[in-house]
Amino acid sequence: MPSAPVLSQKVLSRHSLRGKITLGYYAVAAIILVASLFFIGELRTLEARVVLGQRATDLFNTVLEIRRFERNYFLHHQAADLAENGRYIRLAQEMLMANRADFVAIAPEERLSQLHTRLTRYQGQMAALTAVDPQQLDALEPQVRQLGQSVVAIAEALAETERHQIQSTLVSFRTLLLGVILSMALLIVVIGRVLSQRVVKPLKEMESSVAAISADHRETLRPPSNDREILSIIAAFNHMLKELDLRQKSLMRSERMVSLGTMLSGVAHELNNPLSNISSSCQILLEEGGECDAATQRRYLEQIDQQTERARSIVHSLLDFSRERAFRKEAVLLRPLVAQTVGFVRGEVSAKSVVQLSIAEDLSVPADAQRLQQVFVNLIRNAMEGLGPQGRMDISAQLVLASEPPVGTALGEGCGKQGAMVEIRVTDNGPGIAPDILPRIFDPFFTTKDVGHGMGLGLFVAYEIVDEHGGCIAVQSTPGQGATFCIRLPATDASHNKGALS
Ligand code: ADP
Repeated sequence: MPSAPVLSQKVLSRHSLRGKITLGYYAVAAIILVASLFFIGELRTLEARVVLGQRATDLFNTVLEIRRFERNYFLHHQAADLAENGRYIRLAQEMLMANRADFVAIAPEERLSQLHTRLTRYQGQMAALTAVDPQQLDALEPQVRQLGQSVVAIAEALAETERHQIQSTLVSFRTLLLGVILSMALLIVVIGRVLSQRVVKPLKEMESSVAAISADHRETLRPPSNDREILSIIAAFNHMLKELDLRQKSLMRSERMVSLGTMLSGVAHELNNPLSNISSSCQILLEEGGECDAATQRRYLEQIDQQTERARSIVHSLLDFSRERAFRKEAVLLRPLVAQTVGFVRGEVSAKSVVQLSIAEDLSVPADAQRLQQVFVNLIRNAMEGLGPQGRMDISAQLVLASEPPVGTALGEGCGKQGAMVEIRVTDNGPGIAPDILPRIFDPFFTTKDVGHGMGLGLFVAYEIVDEHGGCIAVQSTPGQGATFCIRLPATDASHNKGALS
C-alpha cells in the first residue's frame, strides 16, 4: 500500500499545469499513433490487393501468350510454337493452382473451376494437334480457337474485376484518409481548447488579478485554479505583497520619525511661550504674593492653569503624532490642525517667512488626523525650506464641486472623482520645481537635497496617505515663482462641512 505522502503527491501531480500539458501531449500522440496504425493496416490491405491484381494480370498475359503461339502454330505449323503454347498452358495452370485461394476474392469458385477445366480441355485439344496432319489443321482451328477465346474471356474478366476492386479500394481509402485527417484535426482542436481552458485561463485570470491588485490595493491574490505551479506562484506573490507591505510600513515609520524630528524642535519653540507665561505669573505671585488681593492671585493662578493646559495639549499632540495606530477616519477640523502644524514646523525652518491661512474655522474633512497632519508637515516643511527671509506661504482650504482633476501633475485614486471635495492648497513663492524633475518628485527616494538633508520620502508618503483617503494630490510650479500643491479629499455628508462651495 502506498504511504500517505506518496498518495498526496500523486493527487497533487494530477493538479498541475505540467500534468495537463503532458496529458494533452500524450492524447495527441495517441491519436496520431492510432491513426498511423490504422493507415498501416489499410495500406497493407491495399498492397495485398495490388499484388493480387498483378497476379490476375500475369495470368491474363500468360493466357494471351498461349493464344499467340496457338495462332502462330495454325499459321506456320511450327512444332516450336506448339511447344511454347504447351509451356504457357502449364504455366497458366500452375499460376491458377498457386493463387486459387486468393483468386476466390475476385471470382466465384465455379468460375475458377470452369477456367481450370477449359484450360485442361484446351491443353488436350492442343496436344492432340501433334498427331494431326497439317492439311487438316484448318478444319480443327475454329473449335480450338473458340475454346481458347473462352479461356481468354474468363482470365480477362478475372483481371478486370481485380482492377475495379483496386480502384474502388483506392477511392474508399482516399475518403477514409480524408475523414481520419479531418477527425484528427477536430480532435486536436478540441484538445487544444480544453488545454487552453485548463492552462491558459487560470494564467489569464491571474494576470487580471495582478492588474486588479496594483489598481485596487487588494491585499492578497486568490488562486484561480488548484494547479501546483499556480499555487506556488500565488504563494510567492502573496509573500512578496506581504513583504512589500511591511517595507512600505517601515518606510512610512522612518518618514514619520523624520517628521517627528521636524516637529520636536517646533514643539520646543511652541512650549517656550506657555512656559515663560507660567514662569512670569509665578514670579509675580512670589514677589507680590502677600500684597495683592485674593482676586488678583486667583487671576494669576488661572493663567498658570491655562498655560499648563496649553503646554499639555502641545505635548499631547506630539505624543499623538508619534504613536503608531490603525487608520481611523473621523471629522477633522482643518484650521486648528494646519495652524498647529505650521507652528511646529516653523520652529525648525525660517521663522521670518509669512504664513497666511485662509481656512474657515468650521471646515472639516473625514480623515485620519494623525496621517493628515503628516501630509501637512511634509508639504509645509518642503515649502518653508525653499523660502528666503521674505518668503510667503498661503494655505487655503475650501469645499469645491470637482468636475475634473486638479491642474498640473496629479496622482491618486481620487483624481477622477467628481462631486463635493475638500480642496487644500499649499502655495509658496520659493524657487519652484524644474519641469524635468516635476514628474519624479512623488517617487520614493527622489530628492534634490544634499545628503543628510532629505530622504526623498516626504512627497511619496504624502501621496500614499492622500491615496489611502481616496483623494488626489497635484503639483503645479513655475521655476522661480514658487509651487502650489493641491490636495483633494472626498467630503462626505458625515463631515458636516459648512464652508462655502466655490
Ligand atoms: P525631500 O524633502 O526629502 O527631498 P520630498 O519627497 O519631500 O523629499 O521632496 C522631493 C523633492 O521635491 C525635493 O527634494 C524638492 O526638490 C522637490 N520639492 C518638493 N516640494 C517643493 C517645493 N515646495 N518647492 C520646491 N521644490 C520642492
